[in-house]
Amino acid sequence: MSVRYSYLQEQFREPDEIFNEIRKLLKTGDFTLGPQVAQFEKKFAELIGSKYAIGVGSGTDAIKLSLRAAGVKGGDEVITTANTFIATVGAINEVGGRTRFVDCTENYVMDVAKLEAAVTPRTKAIVPVHFTGEPVDMDQVMYVAKKYKLEVIEDACQSILCRYKGRTCGTFGIAGAFSLHPLKNLNVWADGGIIVTDDTELDRTLRLLRNHGLKNRDEIELLGYNSRLDSIQAIVGNWLIPQTRSITKRRQENAAYYDRAFMDMADITLPPKRANCERVYHIYMFQVGPQHRNRLYQHLLRNGIEAKIHYPIPLYQQEGLRKLRYPPGSFPVTDAQAKRVISLPVDQHLSRAQQDFCILKVKEYFEAL
Ligand SMILES: *Cc1c(COP(=O)(O)O)cnc(C)c1O
Repeated sequence: MSVRYSYLQEQFREPDEIFNEIRKLLKTGDFTLGPQVAQFEKKFAELIGSKYAIGVGSGTDAIKLSLRAAGVKGGDEVITTANTFIATVGAINEVGGRTRFVDCTENYVMDVAKLEAAVTPRTKAIVPVHFTGEPVDMDQVMYVAKKYKLEVIEDACQSILCRYKGRTCGTFGIAGAFSLHPLKNLNVWADGGIIVTDDTELDRTLRLLRNHGLKNRDEIELLGYNSRLDSIQAIVGNWLIPQTRSITKRRQENAAYYDRAFMDMADITLPPKRANCERVYHIYMFQVGPQHRNRLYQHLLRNGIEAKIHYPIPLYQQEGLRKLRYPPGSFPVTDAQAKRVISLPVDQHLSRAQQDFCILKVKEYFEAL
């Protein structure tokens, strides 16, 4: 048996309905900002429970445009978590912001107890990341944001339908950024992203920003970007969006199945369960001893299981981020996790037999010690 990580071939095995809609699009030529985009935005806003949704070119752009619309500019500091995907930092950098990291918890999200200490007089915004599909403790984030008058832009790229105390992630801050990248839970056929907000003024600014600041064909209200969600990608999104809840449910069931198998294994550390937090398992990640991680990883690969490591090198230690000037050891929890984490496929197309095989091979590794 082999267990692949990417399930895209299964997801789009019967694409006829999508192709039919694309054929209709060909007759209209509305390839950018066509009615399909507006339709997808409406459905997405309904799904998340926000007033507005604005389709953009990528999840990275969703963060970038939100930061720009919230007034973040050159020299401002933006606080995020040390163990995120590079795109969060890239987006902050693109608007001229300086990233300040906060270490993470055993749940792989920002350790909000350390948030306040990262605030300086130059801090302008916080970008909490609901990493792996696990919600950040938003009560504390909003408390600190209010106290220091900071904007909150949620990086919800891995967390469609993730909830904290019953409220959907992406709706706590002034804006929430989502990715539609093929590797994300609601995926299209290329890059794509979408922003949610309840703020009428922000919605208007974001629509200008994504389309060169054009108020109409002839008038430019502000300097913006070219960052539109393609009509073709909106067609794919419209086709998939009704399945989002069942996709989420399947991922949660698959995660629970792994949890039951690994719960009693002394060699495996699962992230602690938190009350009032609904995870959506973009990634199913657990920790093993650092002496075992790479060996277990190789053992799984050798057995045809495409396990992943998210991520082996902390961002602040990467060559490309040297200008942030963080010395080694700045984020001990993130450092430890980089040596200990391992991820298994958890997607909605994974079969129980494939999960059993993954569990068997993990157990086999530890039993052979
Ligand atoms: C994927 C991702 C992004 C960026 O999304 P893209 O659509 O790839 O630009 C941002 N933040 C996190 C945490 C992500 O996982």
